[in-house]
Amino acid sequence: MSDENDIDLDVIRDVYRRERDRRIRPDGARQYARVAGDFGYYAKDPYTARTERAPVDDRVEVLIIGAGFGGLQTGAFLRDAGIDGIRLMDEAGDVGGTWYWNRYPGVRCDIESYVYMPLLEETGYVPTERYATGEEIRQHAVRIAEHYDLYRDTLFQTRATSLTWDEDAAEWIVATDRGDQFRARYVITSSGTLTQPKLPGIPGIETFRGHTFHTSRWDYGYTGGDQNGGLEMLRDKRVGVVGTGATGLQVVPQLAEHAKELVVFQRTPSTVDVRDNRPTDPEWAASLEPGWQRERMENFLAVLAGEPVEESLVTDGWTRTPSLQREILSGSFGETTDTEVDDAITMNRIRTRVDEIVDDPATAAVLKPWYRYMCKRPGFSDRYLQSFNQPNVRLVDTADTHGISAMTENAVVVGEDEHELDCVIFATGFEAGVSGVVSGTLPVAGRGGRQLLEAWGRGPRTLHGFYTHGFPNLLQLGAMQNANSVNFVHILQEQATHIAAVIARAERENAAWVEPSVDSEDAWVREVYATAHDTSAFQAECTPGYYNGEGTAAITGMTYSPGPVVFHRLLREWRDGDMSDVLVSTEQATARSQHTYAEATA
Ligand code: NDP
Repeated sequence: MSDENDIDLDVIRDVYRRERDRRIRPDGARQYARVAGDFGYYAKDPYTARTERAPVDDRVEVLIIGAGFGGLQTGAFLRDAGIDGIRLMDEAGDVGGTWYWNRYPGVRCDIESYVYMPLLEETGYVPTERYATGEEIRQHAVRIAEHYDLYRDTLFQTRATSLTWDEDAAEWIVATDRGDQFRARYVITSSGTLTQPKLPGIPGIETFRGHTFHTSRWDYGYTGGDQNGGLEMLRDKRVGVVGTGATGLQVVPQLAEHAKELVVFQRTPSTVDVRDNRPTDPEWAASLEPGWQRERMENFLAVLAGEPVEESLVTDGWTRTPSLQREILSGSFGETTDTEVDDAITMNRIRTRVDEIVDDPATAAVLKPWYRYMCKRPGFSDRYLQSFNQPNVRLVDTADTHGISAMTENAVVVGEDEHELDCVIFATGFEAGVSGVVSGTLPVAGRGGRQLLEAWGRGPRTLHGFYTHGFPNLLQLGAMQNANSVNFVHILQEQATHIAAVIARAERENAAWVEPSVDSEDAWVREVYATAHDTSAFQAECTPGYYNGEGTAAITGMTYSPGPVVFHRLLREWRDGDMSDVLVSTEQATARSQHTYAEATA
């Protein structure tokens, strides 16, 4: 198939199915080991030394769990609304969330920074490059925290261990792993998006005596250098890297430049499209009119959501393929062949690019992705494929063995072959999008002592994804029963705006608390399910990955299928109303508490 537009869909479908079938593992998502217990070492914070402190037993107005861009934006908008007693809490040693943890060499934003980095106009900052480095993004998180005075009262290196609603005081009692027990009128959770590292459950992984770490806990003490490179201490080292997702794409060129020998263990190749990064044009930056960032963010979101726009302001790899990106969300897979042809043309172009860049045909063949474009997170790099032309870099295909077979004291084993290494770096990703509230590691007892996960029974129940009946003043950020988009920071911005508006209104109107009525919650859950697109047909054809539950299940019905533009409009209109669905007056509060008491004692 040398002509990239010469498409035979039957042939392509056959190849894709074969590629999927040889990768499916019976253990699905269970193949990964939790980074705890014996593997706790992989999750240890290498960036900030632990500081001992006395337990806290005070009271704040608002506790925000998670100091990434979700928590920071919520804090910022609450400050704008005049709320004073805000406390940010995070397991990390500083703000930044994902960008606190991910400091591996080469780390960058893969969404244009002008739409990804929030509150640029508010903080008076313009990113220096189109795709900013991780360090620039992390420093921007610090800038936001400083600008909005959010460092005051923070509790870092602290994990909430339980939330208990105190009926009489109408506030939450918060316990932590530092022995704290303090009170908060409102608790907002915004955590777990991409912070918990995931390790493959490789037999013998614990026997390896060389050096090893996860990319999100980079050990510069071992490699030397920093996020910009200069990993001089690897000059005499044989290094293995496991994983070729978005992280692998960014880290491989850095390792290739510095390691004596680099072995890249690949299971499924990523798509690697053109990156085209460049410094910010100072003239363009000077020409920006007030309101430019909001306009650009909304334009990007609309283009990807397929909403009409006069002109696409961001033109990059994402805005070139919106219909392919929507395929995964729309459930329209198989209805027409048009998108499938577009998909095949795009994938052929991406496969042709591999041939154009990689010298060795056998290596190029292994690097070609054979699946539909959105089966995996699309990748972009102008350096990754080129790395495989270096004499010190070797690609090992682990597709037929379903990944690495084993590890020994000094080697990584794939099938019959042992690859002796001094260091193994895991670029194997994260437990995606799981907050402690959802996973159950942060138990929440609401009115009448009812546990949140118990109340949810067979599935989450919320109004707009934010709050649940029976759990007053608990507000959650995240994509669950809410909208989603590749520019997740924008999604978080809309959520933060909404939450801050609700709290500000509740305070202004002296509400007893914020809690959705049973009817409004029921209506929203029904709406989410009634409008949910069934994407299982698309997912079933994909190679396994976290998008499709490692090939075992379609992840459907969790987000609001009509999409972010529709959802944000709906939220704005709802905010223009009286908010009576969630603002609970003192009389209503008394009635609800009595009702709970009657239920509990029945
Ligand atoms: P991913 O989950 O995307 O990739 C994990 C990699 O590890 C895959 O290549 C996977 O192969 C491989 N792997 C897992 N188990 C094994 C095994 N047993 N043997 C061999 N290989 C194995 O993690 P990433 O950290 O790359 O990315 C996670 C997410 O983080 C991205 O999807 C993206 O949303 C985000 N990200 C964003 C960036 C940005 O610039 N904004 C940069 C980096 C990450 P397989 O595909 O076969 O499962």
